[in-house]
Amino acid sequence: MTYDAIIIGSGLSGLTNALLLACSGRQVLVLEQHPQPAPVVRGFSRAGQYFDSGFHYAGGLGINSPFRTLFRHLGLEEKLDLFSFAAEGFDCLQISETGETFSLPVGFAAIKTKLGEQFPQARQKITTYLDEIAAKWSHFPYLDLDTAISDFGIEIVHGHSLHERLQDFSPWPQLQSLFSMHSLLYGVSPGDAPTSLNAQVAGSYYHSVHGIDGGGRALVDALLELLRSAGGEIRCRAEVSALLTSPERVRGVRLTSGEEIFARDVVVTLNPALLPQLLPKGVLRPAYLKRLKNLRQTPSAYIVFARSRQPLDLLRQRNLFIQPRTGIFASDTHLPLEERAFYLAAAGQGQQGEINGLVGIIPASYTEVADWEDPQGRRSDTYLARKQQIGERLLTLFARKCPELAELELLELATPLTLRDYSQAPEGAIYGVGRFLGQYNPHPVTRLKGLFLSGQAIAAPGLLGTVVAGYLTSGSILGHEHLRGELRACR
Ligand SMILES: Cc1cc2nc3c(=O)[nH]c(=O)nc-3n(C[C@H](O)[C@H](O)[C@H](O)COP(=O)(O)OP(=O)(O)OC[C@H]3O[C@@H](n4cnc5c(N)ncnc54)[C@H](O)[C@@H]3O)c2cc1C
Repeated sequence: MTYDAIIIGSGLSGLTNALLLACSGRQVLVLEQHPQPAPVVRGFSRAGQYFDSGFHYAGGLGINSPFRTLFRHLGLEEKLDLFSFAAEGFDCLQISETGETFSLPVGFAAIKTKLGEQFPQARQKITTYLDEIAAKWSHFPYLDLDTAISDFGIEIVHGHSLHERLQDFSPWPQLQSLFSMHSLLYGVSPGDAPTSLNAQVAGSYYHSVHGIDGGGRALVDALLELLRSAGGEIRCRAEVSALLTSPERVRGVRLTSGEEIFARDVVVTLNPALLPQLLPKGVLRPAYLKRLKNLRQTPSAYIVFARSRQPLDLLRQRNLFIQPRTGIFASDTHLPLEERAFYLAAAGQGQQGEINGLVGIIPASYTEVADWEDPQGRRSDTYLARKQQIGERLLTLFARKCPELAELELLELATPLTLRDYSQAPEGAIYGVGRFLGQYNPHPVTRLKGLFLSGQAIAAPGLLGTVVAGYLTSGSILGHEHLRGELRACR
């Protein structure tokens, strides 16, 4: 049989694409190398504690927001219980050097008021800056249904860096810290981050902040249920090793088992640097393939999964960002662990009950664990000992920064090797290919007929970015005006 579309990868963007195509009556098959769908975001349990892994909170899902329309159109609004993060402070910032703490309330107006009171001399600049972000954050095609699809990405490549823009706040380094801390959520340092990328990611959180009851697992389960009801299929432990092509178009895929599966269209949601190795020579231009291979990746990370004997009220409906020094955030992985900025989130998402677990995310470089690399994924005892050592060192760091975190027990630590194995991203890049100033990330449509790209590299990382990427790619197959028309009817 020949499918209408094969989607390679069952992450948030793969499932979004599959759902959109299946709902339009296409016969769709999703192929995932991992034993379970959406391995990055589905979370896991250790010693009876559930941990979210690649999804802790979402920005821009407020009632009547453009992202909420996409959620409704996908059928997720009905399936999921969203809850608001703490209105008076959804993301808190602690600056170790000075011992100061700040928090951002939900909503552009509330942020202006609160920061204006704390920094009266900067009030006008704060207002101007936040007005800029409010105007830009939803300036994506599909969030703004009137934005030209062809303009997509241009603004991100050019313009000022976040670092340059924040020079306006030089007299107030604490504001520079607050306005740059969300760079940890997209993995591009403020010196390389386009202001429009920051506006899209940080701005969505300034607009509205939600968790999903049941966390990443509930989100994945809802997407899978919707996909199955729309007739879509999914196969796990199905690693694609090659794309099948004829001179003029894509024909399907070959799995590592040797099985061949045919389809009219193939959507690749993998890290784009992996595409060249899947393609026979000569079907796409060497310059394009070289560009994909050389795209800059975001750094990797250590992710601490720990349980506390004390309830962790400081993470109730809020996250905690910790920065060693005041000023623009630097997520420099060359610094010793103890001098890197990081953030902490509650282990799971839900409105009720005590919070006993936390997830701590601290940027790291692949070179820190590269000695233990093994293509078969085997882990030596020395690697496990090293992992334990890093985990303990990070728990000591957390306790030193926050007395409330003094009684943590390490249940698991993900390293850059773990991240590489879960997503296949080169060197375990936490958010895959980043959107760096001056870098042209690939577009959904390729020169090979029937071959499309999707995933966080196409739009931005995060639920919002990957869902938008899903619309951009599926719109390229189904017709943008067709999909946009459906969205207009959903508003
Ligand atoms: C620690 C962490 C915390 C995060 N927190 C948040 C958050 O709070 N809020 C938020 O909005 N976002 C968050 N994100 C970002 C978000 O999780 C990602 O942007 C998103 O999951 C990326 O989805 P994707 O579909 O583009 O890629 P992926 O999820 O990487 O999907 C690609 C899939 O392809 C599969 N694959 C790879 N090679 C093959 C092959 N050859 N054959 C078959 N399958 C293959 C992989 O196994 C993978 O499942 C976080 C990410 C991380 C890592």
